[in-house]
Amino acid sequence: LDERLPIRGAEDEFDRLAATINGLLDRIAEYVAEKQSFVADAAHELRTPIAAIRSSVEVALAGERSTQDYRSLLEEVIEESASLEVLVNQVLLLSEAVVSHDQPIVESTALGEVVEKAVDMFRGVAESRGVCLTLAVQDNPLVVGVKPHLRQVVNNLIDNAIKYTGEGGSVQIDLSVDPTRGLAELVVADNGLGIGPADLPRVFDRFFRADRARQRDQTHGAGLGLSICKTIVEAHHGAIRCDSRPGEGARFTVTLPLKKEA
Ligand code: ADP
Repeated sequence: LDERLPIRGAEDEFDRLAATINGLLDRIAEYVAEKQSFVADAAHELRTPIAAIRSSVEVALAGERSTQDYRSLLEEVIEESASLEVLVNQVLLLSEAVVSHDQPIVESTALGEVVEKAVDMFRGVAESRGVCLTLAVQDNPLVVGVKPHLRQVVNNLIDNAIKYTGEGGSVQIDLSVDPTRGLAELVVADNGLGIGPADLPRVFDRFFRADRARQRDQTHGAGLGLSICKTIVEAHHGAIRCDSRPGEGARFTVTLPLKKEA
């Protein structure tokens, strides 16, 4: 993939063809490099929970221990297996969402229902962490979209908002419609940690985690959630952005095209 066709400078058909083929080769090389780095990053992240599981099992097998010790080692194994499962699902989802990028989406989804279900699902977690979850759904817009993928976007944003907002904080979710622009707009805003200006441009990168996030939540999350959101939203011809200031919370806005009436 490193070789390119020579351009003779004659500016004839052959030169144009060679330039087109070289351009295609550049794109293929970029695509392959991107895939390779994704696989390398994923493998690196998968190693962490696997190493932790192995180490717990080795400690358990190394000698006689109390029932309590065995129990806590097994609990660690369960916890790390859960992280592993989440990670594997995220990696699979990212590759699926990437595949669907090239195919037109024909399904439609009632976004209001997806958002309401997600909020119901997270109520218990929010309560246990002392975070107040409020929802304002003005409409139940029909958007062009694959339901499980859109559910994943909404879940990831609410999950993060709760995760990065401490005890006593609040998360506000708003769903509205902009009929003139033909868009549904979902906002998930929290008043938690926030994101610094240096990190803000990188939050949608694969495997990116701000240092503060890492310190706060050491075992869970590999920094894939937001890149999954972005990949899915863009595959749906929508847009996602984040506005935030450190200490003042974060506000994620997703816009998705409404399904056109037949
Ligand atoms: P993860 O949550 O697994 O670390 P994400 O891709 O979902 O991965 O998020 C990437 C990073 O963006 C997080 O590690 C955190 O630093 C930052 N982030 C995401 N959502 C928020 C939020 N609501 N408030 C503050 N920081 C956030």
